[in-house]
Amino acid sequence: MVIDAHCDALLKLWEKKISFHSSEELQVNYVKWINSPVKVQCFAIFIPDDVPAESQFDAALEMITIFFEQVVDPYDDIKFISNRNDLLSLKENERGAILTLEGCHSIGNDINKLKTLIRLGVRAVGLTWNQANAVADGVGEPRGAGLSSFGEEVVELLNKENIWTDVSHLSYQGFFDVMRLAKFPMASHSNAKSIASHRRNLDDKQIEALIQRDGWMGITFVPYFLTDFEDANIQDVINHVDYFIDKGAINCLGFGSDFDGTDKFVDGLYDYLDYRSLLTNLQINELTEEQVKKISYQNFIDKFPRISK
Ligand SMILES: [Zn+2]
Repeated sequence: MVIDAHCDALLKLWEKKISFHSSEELQVNYVKWINSPVKVQCFAIFIPDDVPAESQFDAALEMITIFFEQVVDPYDDIKFISNRNDLLSLKENERGAILTLEGCHSIGNDINKLKTLIRLGVRAVGLTWNQANAVADGVGEPRGAGLSSFGEEVVELLNKENIWTDVSHLSYQGFFDVMRLAKFPMASHSNAKSIASHRRNLDDKQIEALIQRDGWMGITFVPYFLTDFEDANIQDVINHVDYFIDKGAINCLGFGSDFDGTDKFVDGLYDYLDYRSLLTNLQINELTEEQVKKISYQNFIDKFPRISK
């Protein structure tokens, strides 16, 4: 069993008008899902930056409509997850779908828009993508600023609503502002910078801070976040797992694949169906059953901030 904290299937469904049921263009589709060990999937709302600012919130609402109309409603065995109780009450044959937001650019500087997205079911909020927005600078913004006062207001709302504050893509300064302010910090899809030097990865100070703040972090299967070399394979994923565990992250670690968010693939880890061989490889790699369980799903459930409602 696996819980995956990040995929971009909604973006592909929104852009390409393809079918969630079995489109081969999707790494995450219904048929693959029910044949995979993935129990729960987070579906990110990500608005590409070529969408004009005034249309971005509408685009976010369109993706939420797609989420319910194509992912949740047509299937009796897919349940919408709003809180930890929903996670815990999934039956054997059922799977759970969670809505998340990747980057606050779509809310502009309007806290009511974020309140609306939370009402509609968003349960983890990434503050930025790579660029700057009204909340903070992203990791690709040379200025490198931290949270604005509006950004602090956003984090306060997330704390009050028991929603995760996601630091993947956030600037270095923003990361530590979140560590200071957020009750529920997470890095939904980021790897270890000591192994792969990409700017999106977490350095040791950040990993330690997330552990100290009882946060959650998801290892992601994007080749250039896994290694500084051209290609990546399953062993590279395992190297990151081992590294995070060595740093003391066994109770904070999980997976955030970024399936459908990248067109470069890890050898042997092409889509949902390959999670099975990743789990087998983790066990071969001398992780205990208990450790594999924590990383695959238990940590995510234990830390899911919203208990009910
Ligand atoms: Zn991302």
